[in-house]
Amino acid sequence: MDKYRLAGKILSSVARDAAKMVKKGEKLLSVAEFAEEEIKRRGAEVAFPCNISLDDEAAHRTPFKGEETRFNDEIVKLDIGSQIDGYIADMAVTIDLSGEREELKRASEAALNNAIDLVHAGVNTKDLSETIEKTITDFGYRPVADLSGHGLLQYDAHAPPTISNRCIKKGVDLKEGQVIAIEPFATDGIGRTKRGNILEIYRLLKRKPVRLMNMRRFLDEVEEYNTLPFAKRWLRSPSDIMLNQLVDKGILYSFPVLKEESGGFVAQKEHTMIVLEDGCEVTTK
Ligand code: MN
Ligand code: MN
Repeated sequence: MDKYRLAGKILSSVARDAAKMVKKGEKLLSVAEFAEEEIKRRGAEVAFPCNISLDDEAAHRTPFKGEETRFNDEIVKLDIGSQIDGYIADMAVTIDLSGEREELKRASEAALNNAIDLVHAGVNTKDLSETIEKTITDFGYRPVADLSGHGLLQYDAHAPPTISNRCIKKGVDLKEGQVIAIEPFATDGIGRTKRGNILEIYRLLKRKPVRLMNMRRFLDEVEEYNTLPFAKRWLRSPSDIMLNQLVDKGILYSFPVLKEESGGFVAQKEHTMIVLEDGCEVTTK
């Protein structure tokens, strides 16, 4: 629990500083590298690549090596993660550089706050989902239905339970001591995502024997990230051919960029918390 707490404390301080860097003209890659380096400098490890998603991109975009893209007038989602011995903190903030999507941003923030107010041991995830959807629709937007909050376990950034962002028929009861992340996404689009073309984030599913020496060496490097997601730009000798082959063999999982299906703008807010008997302790506050 203390490792969860420290990972969260470090992450929230890094997120605050990284968010300040998000300005028109700044490079996405500079912000991602700053966040990842500061997590380490402040005493934790990176849990997954710094996600920087723009406008209709909802998740899983991280800058590629040498990417020159600079912020302009987008609505920016910064989703970052830290860990200590695999105990993860996961947090996201939205920065609106357009000046026109503050309400959308507020909808995701209010949904998160309202859900957090309900969290305690014994609460059903159905109640959290209902609150998230109702809060967002009251703002006049839609939740992104296929993106969800989740549990966190050691070296597992997406463990059960699923915490849906829209009403579900049957949920599960949260238990004392469980660690969860809640992440409402709000959109002015239809509220679903589709796969985009960019592929930059992978994770190891299960190591299996491979015959080729260069593939074995490649897997040795990938194993340094345990079962946590890693970015292609982190690899010493990234090879698309090798990555694709390993995905085909079921050894690696790839995370395509997810975009709002109708091109709607997306806002996201996320915190990690420990479920307590009578409430919760937000680790990323
Ligand atoms: Mn996240
Ligand atoms: Mn998350």
